[in-house]
Amino acid sequence: MAEKLGIYIHIPFCRSKCDYCDFYSLAGQEGRMDDYQKALLAHMKETAPLTRGWQVDTVYFGGGTPSFYGEKRLRELLRFIAKRFDLAKDAEITVECNPDSVDQKMLQVLRRAGFNRLSLGVQSACDCELQSLHRPHSYQQAVEAVKAARAAKFQNLSLDLIYGLPGQTMEGWQNTLEQVLTLKPEHLSCYGLKVEEGTPLDYRVSRGEVLPDDDAQADMYLWTVERLAREGFRQYEISNFARPGCQSRHNLRYWMGRPYIGFGPGAHSDFGGRRYSFVRDLETYISGVLGGGVVIDSSDLIPARERGSEYLMLRLRTTRGIEEWEYRREFFLNFDPIEQKLEEYERQGWAERHDRRWNLTPKGFLVSNQLISDLLVIQEEATLEKTLPRLKQGMPPKEP
Ligand code: SF4
Repeated sequence: MAEKLGIYIHIPFCRSKCDYCDFYSLAGQEGRMDDYQKALLAHMKETAPLTRGWQVDTVYFGGGTPSFYGEKRLRELLRFIAKRFDLAKDAEITVECNPDSVDQKMLQVLRRAGFNRLSLGVQSACDCELQSLHRPHSYQQAVEAVKAARAAKFQNLSLDLIYGLPGQTMEGWQNTLEQVLTLKPEHLSCYGLKVEEGTPLDYRVSRGEVLPDDDAQADMYLWTVERLAREGFRQYEISNFARPGCQSRHNLRYWMGRPYIGFGPGAHSDFGGRRYSFVRDLETYISGVLGGGVVIDSSDLIPARERGSEYLMLRLRTTRGIEEWEYRREFFLNFDPIEQKLEEYERQGWAERHDRRWNLTPKGFLVSNQLISDLLVIQEEATLEKTLPRLKQGMPPKEP
């Protein structure tokens, strides 16, 4: 049976820039869309033969704002993928959309073309919060977009929300989530606002704008987890919640450490034991692909030891967590010191054990960065303990 692969296509165009955004996306570059399309098609054509023997079971168009790129280009890209790659009949095909750049006709075209999952950037049900973030749409437009998606027969709809916004209270966040729940999405991503360096929001905060503090954000998060559980959503990752059977198969692939290839400036890939990324610059990407230049920004062969660290970092973001036998079998590492630490976390209410599987609790997710980095230190020490005796005997260290 063919091995499974995911494809990510980055669409780096937006109508305008949101104040908190540090994704690689550009406003006012619509004039470059046609050349970008040529570059993407050429890049995929060149790459497709390398994936022979792999079946593509998830495709994700992210950005940026793919819906702003237009249904004609999106449809052409998907057709090309279906022609050049071994695309599974039941592949999950997601497109990210913003409420201001979709309508029913467009969504019908996308649905008929084979897109079967839609991820809509709603962020808030409060127009003053949307304006404060410089989002290019109102909440009513998000409601209309959901109606249009349903009319176009999208049965797998994900809505993105952000909590901890400037001036937002717990009541304000609760109101957003309650309103959004009436739209009956199959999937919700709820992210705590992060102030990314160099963004307009960073500047605003440096000038004294106040955001809800960590405790307030933590309360919003814990309330969200509990409220969505009551509504029948299953949390499957720190920020992601789905009705049964509606988890994002593509995003799970990242957290489970499964292979994927990306296209576009700033896109990452993990394929053939190598992790690589492309230049985070639209013009360099276009001229590099079309003119035969270099578009690779970084490329690393990942040793097994690093895969073990990744396993801890990524899998502990999910409610599935980590498994003792998997850890020992895949990475030949000693699980005992990790387990001792996890038992300590369990006493604090940060982790829980299910037979030989461990996962973080919602309280643990809140401090997951610290918990995981402590586990990585322990893993590193355990690896060194294994390697040092060999070095003392003048033998080369073995890859774990
Ligand atoms: S629409 Fe999305 S990608 Fe574009 S600027 Fe806003 S947050 Fe960034």
